[in-house]
This record gives sequence, structure tokens and C-alpha cells, in this order.
Amino acid sequence: MNVARAYRLLLGVSTLVLATGADAQVRREFTAVHMGVPVRMVLHSSSDLVASKAARAAFARIAELDDKMSDYRPQSEVRMLSQRPGDWQTVSPDLFAVLARAEEVSRNSGGVFDVTLGPLVQLWRETRQTRRLPDPDVLSRARSRSGAPMFEVDIEHSAVRLWVPNMRLDLGGIAKGYILQEALKTLRTHGIRSALVEAGGDVVVGDPPPGQAGWSVFVAGGDTATLRRAKALSNVAVATSGGSEQFVEIGGVRYSHIIDPRTGLGATGRHIVTVIAEDAALADAAATALSVLGPERAAGFRKKYPQVLVSFRTLPEPSR
Ligand code: AMP
Ligand code: MG
Repeated sequence: MNVARAYRLLLGVSTLVLATGADAQVRREFTAVHMGVPVRMVLHSSSDLVASKAARAAFARIAELDDKMSDYRPQSEVRMLSQRPGDWQTVSPDLFAVLARAEEVSRNSGGVFDVTLGPLVQLWRETRQTRRLPDPDVLSRARSRSGAPMFEVDIEHSAVRLWVPNMRLDLGGIAKGYILQEALKTLRTHGIRSALVEAGGDVVVGDPPPGQAGWSVFVAGGDTATLRRAKALSNVAVATSGGSEQFVEIGGVRYSHIIDPRTGLGATGRHIVTVIAEDAALADAAATALSVLGPERAAGFRKKYPQVLVSFRTLPEPSR
């Protein structure tokens, strides 16, 4: 073989290796339980090693944030806030980001979304077990420790203030979105741009899978713009609220696990809502708020967030 031919052959082989090397992407899935639910990640990565390292780091970030924001853990940063009623307290940047967004969504939803409803969420968990509505006195005591006006946010100093003793912030309607988006960011710092992270009704996606227009995600409702968008998603969050598994039926009325601040009890609307938004904490909180507002009362809220896509599905009344 002459030198020129051997050189051409060598060049050909190395180009082939480079070409497959650049395109070769492995698709890997990882699942672990965090925040009380399975968290699933789908990653497209250059190698198994990169994928598993990135997934480990992302799960560690989820655990770190859950430690701060969980109302189940007595020592969590969010639980500690209740110990100094009346004082301004500075909080970590992550918790502040969630609390500031929560306060904004609360204002824009006329207080329907409200992270101060912790005492009522606790009470409602008991109700779901006993299937008996709370005693009016117990309900009114829980209400006296809950309510949007008792919670203030100082954007300039990253500080918050709770007004009355024994308040309890419950971030169950917003933290998951924030945490999943942070997990996606962690994957990105490990070189993975094309990924999906999902848990309990919330999904966040990065760049599309290789060779595809985007990720496809199930949407509960029938709004055509949202459905079309949900077929090719990238760099966006999708949240669904009001699903049926957590309903309780008492005296012929079906109550959701989401509290209606007007009654202090589970909301009775039968709305399932899917929201698509760039910010995952906003998507999560908006879905929770809109599942209580329902399509009839949603107009004012939707005007505040014109970029957010919303799709409702209302379950039919059961036939008796
Ligand atoms: P999601 O599944 O995102 O709709 O959130 C539901 C969770 O949010 C509940 O399990 C409670 O922890 C919390 N929550 C309940 N009612 C409200 C409300 N009105 N505003 C904000 N969070 C709530
Ligand atoms: Mg939510």
C-alpha cells in the first residue's frame, strides 16, 4: 500500500470515529425516592459514567433542597422560621427564591395560593384519614394561624416575617417545581443538556433529545395550544394539579387535598389543570392555584401571567 493511500485510509477511519464519537449518545434513566415520591430522570449523555455521575449529583441537590424546604422535618430551615414570630429573618437564597415566588403567586391569585395554610393542611390530613370534617372550634383555631397577610417578604434584604406564633409554612404546592429545576441545572453543570426530570405531577425538560424536536409530555386537558406545545417541549416546566388520587368523599361531597382558603377545607371543584411555564416554581404554584380557581375564576390570574399556557379538564359529577 502506498503512503498516500494508507494516509487516506487512516484519515477515513479517524473521521468515522470522531463522527460516531460526537453523535453517540446514551439514553439513561434513573429513579430515586425524594420528597416522598419517586423522582425520575431521563438523560442523554456521552457515556454511562457521565450520566451516572450527573444523576448522583442531581439527586444530592434534590436531597439538600428537600432538607431545607420540607415541613415534615422539624429542623428544616422552613420549619425554623416559625420560631421567631414578628421578626424579620434572612433566609438562604434557595428558600428565599421559593418564598418570594410563593408570595407573588399568592397576591396574583387573590390569596387562593397560600403557603401559610400549613395548619389547615395538617388538619386536612387528619380529616382524610378519619373521614370526618373538623370540629368548628379546631378549624377556627387553625385558621387563626393561617393567612396570606401574616406572611411578608422583603425582596431587597432577602428576608421574611411571620406574624403570629405557631404558624406553619407548607411549600408542598411550589417547592417541587423549584427543586426539579435545580436538579436540571445540576445535570447541566455536569455536561448534560438534554434531560427530563419529573416527580409527582411536575416535569422539567432541558434541550430536546438528540435528533428530535422536543420532549413529549402528557397533558390532562383539551386546550389545543397547550396540547400542541406539549408534544415538542424544551427548556420549560409542566405542572399538573388536582389529580384524582388524593380526593376524599365525606357526606356525598368530594374534597381535594388542596385547601380552599375561603372555607379552610379541601377544595370541592373537580378541576385538573396543566400549566406550562418557563419557571418551574411558577408552573407548580400556578397549577395548584388554578385547580382551586377553576376555569370560571381563572381569568384575572391568567392575565397576570400571559406567557403561561393553561389547560383545564373538569371531571364530570358522579351519577348517583
Ligand atoms: P400540588 O400537588 O402542587 O397542587 O400541591 C398540593 C400541596 O400544596 C398540598 O399537599 C399542600 O401541601 C399544599 N397546599 C394545599 N393547599 C394549598 C393552597 N391553597 N395554596 C398553596 N399550597 C397548598
Ligand atoms: Mg403545585
